[in-house]
Amino acid sequence: MDLAAFVQRARDNDVRFVRFLYCDNGGTIRGKAIHIDKLAGRIQNGIGLTVAMQAMNMLDQLQSVEGMGPVGEIRLVPDVESYVELPYAPHSASMMADMIALDRTPWAACPRSFLRRMLEEAATAGVHVQAAFEPEWTLARQTEDGSFAPADESLCFSTVGWETGGPVIDAIVAALEAQGMPVEQYYPELGHGQQELSIRHAAGVRAADNQLRYRDTMRAVARAHGFFASLAPKPFPDQAGNGCHIHVSLWDDEGNNLMAGDGSPQGVSHFGRHWIAGILDHLPGLVAITCASVNSYRRLQPQSWSSAYTCWGFDNREAAVRIVSGLWGETTPSIHFELKASDNSNNPYLALGALIAAGMDGVRRELDPGEPMAVDPFDLDEAERTRRNILRLPDSLEAAVDALAQDTVLTSALGDLLADAYITVKRSEADAFAAQDLAFELKHHFYKF
Ligand code: GLU
Ligand code: MG
Repeated sequence: MDLAAFVQRARDNDVRFVRFLYCDNGGTIRGKAIHIDKLAGRIQNGIGLTVAMQAMNMLDQLQSVEGMGPVGEIRLVPDVESYVELPYAPHSASMMADMIALDRTPWAACPRSFLRRMLEEAATAGVHVQAAFEPEWTLARQTEDGSFAPADESLCFSTVGWETGGPVIDAIVAALEAQGMPVEQYYPELGHGQQELSIRHAAGVRAADNQLRYRDTMRAVARAHGFFASLAPKPFPDQAGNGCHIHVSLWDDEGNNLMAGDGSPQGVSHFGRHWIAGILDHLPGLVAITCASVNSYRRLQPQSWSSAYTCWGFDNREAAVRIVSGLWGETTPSIHFELKASDNSNNPYLALGALIAAGMDGVRRELDPGEPMAVDPFDLDEAERTRRNILRLPDSLEAAVDALAQDTVLTSALGDLLADAYITVKRSEADAFAAQDLAFELKHHFYKF
């Protein structure tokens, strides 16, 4: 890359600051910005960051994690391929950064490097992952007393919702497109003020990068229009929760869809079935990463279309793993799956990386997911669910983190330092919110992600 030309282009576009961004173990997007005059050097050598930041929880309470105290330094080194100018912030651009140790190797607690490692392991086994994070979020207004209320009372897919959301959505779409994120669909969702605006899938790391950009973009554009956009899993307890389903498709070295039928039952390949079984097998611990906040478990309830049980199904919106039937008129089979047990409070690098670790473990062990669920699993009686090995997902962050701590496949994929830091941070959040009331929980999740 011609570094001088790269910097000059940014300067010609009037960029003054470039943000080096990352997502931490609490799910918060953070970063530091460098002035354009210093950009060239910092692209090569990064910006310093204390190791302690990966021990910070979502309340900015620093936790005690070995190796993450006040002594020690890493560098945020940007991925220049991820450079975009920010349409919602004057004179600003951003790049996603990796956490690099002083010896110039990826730091063991770097989430983006973790995802890259999982993708590389899968690629070595001939599996290439495309993914799309599918965020739902709530458009809200601040009332005179400082509390938040949904921006409208529109109904599911109702055209009334366009009257409130239309101009903001239009501006968000323009901002996403300006950053190279193609938009696919929009509709007012079920909950009051709830929105769903989806973007196209991308290759592994870029899909997670896009989720960070998406979160920053819609939050900022909504603010500019006088609204607040909440990505909390359950910002209003009496309304539908905000999911962020993760859509995943799997491709071989020649670009063939690895999930497409190979004569196996129901048109999902044996390979695809192993993957699904791996996810279901690890799901109790995996949700500690994909449904990463205390507020997540207010959403993850039966009969909420968020999924609450370890099962899979075809176009079944109560199944944790939903097989999304292929589109009509496609030349390449578009069959893929979505993980419904996921929301915007997660760190998308950790979420997708752990999902891949679970799926690939299913392949290694040739696991079978059993019969697909053709009904709402809540409607089965307990004995039937037990017979079919269908478990209720953990009902709290604390329970999920306990399951994660027991899951040696996931913790060894994360590695000791990242697993230890993540579990410590999440336990501290569970404890901190347990000592407070519902109002505190809602307030501290409402505008954090
Ligand atoms: N809002 C639901 C959730 O929490 C999802 C509804 C749907 O799109 O199926 O995941
Ligand atoms: Mg939806």
